[in-house]
Amino acid sequence: MNEQLIERALEMGAAKAEIISVDQIITSAEFREACRKNLCGAWGRCWMCPPDVGDIEPLMAEIRKYKQALWYQTIGELEDSFDIEGMGEAKKKHIKLSYQLEEELKPMVGAHLHLTCGGCGLCERCARIDNQPCRFPEKAMASLEAYGVDVYQTTKSTTLKYINGQNTVTYFSALLFDQKGE
Ligand code: SF4
Repeated sequence: MNEQLIERALEMGAAKAEIISVDQIITSAEFREACRKNLCGAWGRCWMCPPDVGDIEPLMAEIRKYKQALWYQTIGELEDSFDIEGMGEAKKKHIKLSYQLEEELKPMVGAHLHLTCGGCGLCERCARIDNQPCRFPEKAMASLEAYGVDVYQTTKSTTLKYINGQNTVTYFSALLFDQKGE
């Protein structure tokens, strides 16, 4: 099955994908402090971002309930290193791929946890901003960082590079599967 997961991820648009052991995933509670600085402006404005996504310790523990993960990336082309618009577009594309892969791969993997980049990104305007309940609680995805995943350190032990050349931006996701105790 693992080869099939990689194959589908690549066919559907990932630049690279690999199956990694959950032991390769490095987490740190410090990521919550980075979120708290709110440089992205999503703090308190997305149900799948902090603080609403929940305390980071139990979220990091949730990752350890699984044995493996499909670790995949997309690489977006930028006009130059100041191309903020290009970065936003590449991010949207990556999140879209995550939701497509979610639909495609969930029948194969069974119980799973799928984490993407940035906030949830499923709705144009998150219902949290208007104090309304989440519109798609079954589908909504959080980011790797919201769960404390250190993408930079984690990807060092894989064949997927964190940086992929000048004028590119790289985004990562993880589809955790193979629940322990099953
Ligand atoms: S599905 Fe929509 S309402 Fe729910 S967290 Fe995602 S963006 Fe917000």
